[in-house]
Amino acid sequence: MSEQKTSKARGWLAAAVLAAACVAFSPGAVSASPPSGAAGLNLPVVLSMYDRVRSLAWHLGDMVDKSDGEPERSDGLRDIETIVIDPGHGGRNSGAIGIAAVQEKYLTLELALALRRQLQSRFPDLRVVLTRYWDTTMDLSSRTHLANRVDADLFLSLHYNAAVHDRAVGFETYYLATRQSIPGATKKPGRPIASADPRVTGVDPEQKLGSSGVQGDELAVLRRDLIRARQHRFSGLLAGLVQQRLVDAVDSADRGVKQANFGVLRGALMPAIVVESGFLTHPKEGRQVLEERHRQHLVDALTDAVEAYDRKKASLD
Ligand SMILES: [Zn+2]
Repeated sequence: MSEQKTSKARGWLAAAVLAAACVAFSPGAVSASPPSGAAGLNLPVVLSMYDRVRSLAWHLGDMVDKSDGEPERSDGLRDIETIVIDPGHGGRNSGAIGIAAVQEKYLTLELALALRRQLQSRFPDLRVVLTRYWDTTMDLSSRTHLANRVDADLFLSLHYNAAVHDRAVGFETYYLATRQSIPGATKKPGRPIASADPRVTGVDPEQKLGSSGVQGDELAVLRRDLIRARQHRFSGLLAGLVQQRLVDAVDSADRGVKQANFGVLRGALMPAIVVESGFLTHPKEGRQVLEERHRQHLVDALTDAVEAYDRKKASLD
C-alpha cells in the first residue's frame, strides 16, 4: 500500500471507531446549556468512554501500519494518566468582566476546551476531564471533588484576572499557601475564587489515605503529612514550569509564581494550580485575551508545561 493509501486507511479506521462510539457528542464549542439529548447522561462517564475509544483507535492505527508518513506524535506521558481542567466560574458566577464586556466564565471555558483538544491530540492516551463543559454553576468543592474522584494526576484551574485600576497586566500562577512559606514565592491573601471556608475545601484527605480514621494513629498522621508535603512540593514544581512556559509563549508581563489560600486548590489531593491568564481590565490585554492567537499561546504554554512536568516527575520517581 502506498503511504497515501495507508494513511487514508488509518484515518478511516479511526473515524469509523470514533463515529461508532461518539453517538453522544464531541464537545468543541462553548454552549450556554447542555446539548439536547444529554439529559440524564453522566457526561464525565461518556467522555471517559470517548477518550478510551479515541486512544484505542490510535493504537489500532499503529497496528495496521507504523510507517504511514503521518507527522510524528509525542512519545506520550510517562507518569500522568489523567488531568482535570477546571474552567473557572460558570453559571450564576460570571467571574470578572473586563473592558471588552465579556464575562470571564466564557473565556475560561473556551480556553479549557482548546487545551483539552490540544492535549488529546498530542497525547492520545491521556484522559482529560473538565469540571464543566458548558455554562453551569458549580461550587468550589465540587471541582476538586471531581478531580479526586477520577484520581487525577494534575488539576489546572483556569482564570483571567481583574484589577480595580487598568494598569495591572500579565499572567501569574498560584499554588496553595501553607503555614511554611516557600523560599522565592510570594504569599497573597485568598480572593473570592478561593474561599478559605473549610466547608468549600473539598473532601477529607483521610478518605484517600485509607486511614482507619483513628485520630491518635500517629502513623496515619505521619503518612498524611508526607502525602501533603509531596503534593505541595509537586504543585510548586508544576506552577514554576507553567509560569516559565507562559513567559516563553505569551508576550506580556511575568507576574511570577505565587501562593494563596484558594479554596479551589485546598481540597485537591494531587498537584494543583490556578493560572491567571491575563488582565481583562487592561486596555490592551483585555482585548487580546479575546483573540484566538492569545488563546493558542496559552494552550501551547500549558501543553508544554504538562509535558515538561511529566518528564521532570518521571526523572524524580
Ligand atoms: Zn477567576
